[in-house]
Amino acid sequence: MKNRKTGVTTKPNSALANATGSWRTHRPITDYNKCIGCENCAKICPEACIEMKDSKPKTDYNYCKGCGLCAQECPVGAISMKKDY
Ligand code: SF4
Ligand code: SF4
Repeated sequence: MKNRKTGVTTKPNSALANATGSWRTHRPITDYNKCIGCENCAKICPEACIEMKDSKPKTDYNYCKGCGLCAQECPVGAISMKKDY
């Protein structure tokens, strides 16, 4: 179970209870006109909160912690990080 004060997940299989979206200061925004559907972002996301639907990534902001890895790994610069506070 996640410790709400520290954000630490202390028991196995409890990650879904840890809504890491509350940590976020920046939000990834995807330009679907640039996206080529390579799935890099979905594969690299440490929260596994990007799901490919119809060859386009959809982000679950309840779990996106705003780390920016998806934007770093996008080969065509389709993801930009915007302030989220
Ligand atoms: S910013 Fe980080 S947590 Fe959020 S979707 Fe991108 S890789 Fe995942
Ligand atoms: S990494 Fe970029 S191009 Fe690849 S699926 Fe994600 S947004 Fe699209």
